[in-house]
Amino acid sequence: MVKPFMPQLVYFEPKAMEYPLGEQLFQKFTDLGTEIRYTTSHNQIRNLPGENDFQRYRIAKSTLVVGLRKTLKFDTSKPSAEYAIPFATGCMGHCHYCYLQTTMGSKPYIRTYVNVDEILQAAQQYIDERTPEITRFEASCTSDIVGIDHLTHTLKRAIEYFGQSDFGRLRFVTKFNTVDHLLDAKHNGRTRFRFSMNAEYVIKYFEPGTSRLHERIEAAAKVAHAGYPLGFIIAPIYLHEGWQEGYRQLFEQLSAELPDEAKNGVTFELIQHRFTKPAKRVIQKNYPMTKLELDEERRRYKWGKYGIGKYIYPKEEETEMKETLFKYIETYFPEGKIEYFT
Ligand code: SF4
Repeated sequence: MVKPFMPQLVYFEPKAMEYPLGEQLFQKFTDLGTEIRYTTSHNQIRNLPGENDFQRYRIAKSTLVVGLRKTLKFDTSKPSAEYAIPFATGCMGHCHYCYLQTTMGSKPYIRTYVNVDEILQAAQQYIDERTPEITRFEASCTSDIVGIDHLTHTLKRAIEYFGQSDFGRLRFVTKFNTVDHLLDAKHNGRTRFRFSMNAEYVIKYFEPGTSRLHERIEAAAKVAHAGYPLGFIIAPIYLHEGWQEGYRQLFEQLSAELPDEAKNGVTFELIQHRFTKPAKRVIQKNYPMTKLELDEERRRYKWGKYGIGKYIYPKEEETEMKETLFKYIETYFPEGKIEYFT
């Protein structure tokens, strides 16, 4: 069982203290006796404790930087939403395959942004530009936002903001079960709460530092009882010995433990495992003992953005994987909706 995240070290950027959330967090960590440091900007953080890259990487993942989101231009976030909404960056989890390892490079610490109102105002402008079309915002493109929200309650504010919005919708995904404070948020059915699920094998070997399967299922049931639209992202779908049975058990267990009313309209997003060459190098450096199979010869190359292609499963395996999982969803969640497979 993973305990709710608590940073070992917290940095504050100077302007953060001018915002109520910055002040609250400062008070909280002072009361807890957490080591606090100051930095003019997160970019200036150079002297994290640790004797080598391996140790520094682990310490960085339990370091929180409290600062401001300066860029209020949002990235697009296809296929699950129109835009990525940035409340935090980085994650305390240690999933071997996580793409944040590549995107965050040498700065894997967790940043939380205290100028939440400004971020929500920026979202409002995007909503207004598209009205009367619905605009969806994905809050988990750059972090696992639920994993730190018990400390900040930023997500809770956002859920309630979108709860009042006619044309804006929020969605996010998590591997953490720290959901209790979100259960009474006034979501008005406008936030889709998704959990990242996988076969036991994948969670056991490749997702250290995150909530275990039964904890995620338990959390999903609570979220369903709280009336949120529910979804599951099955990712990365990874072929391993006994994968058919592993994924079958996953759907069977999910279906057995969720309340019936939650199954109607539950969404599924299916993403097969992929890696890029730069990602492979970082994974092998950060998790040298990983069992994750990263053999280009056993994969199919797919051209990607910015010339960085990714390695996905060969066509035949991809088809088998897709058909198998679609069949399980049809069997265990006949009222469910598959949003995409990629
Ligand atoms: Fe990455 Fe998500 Fe795992 Fe965090 S929980 S390390 S964001 S895959």
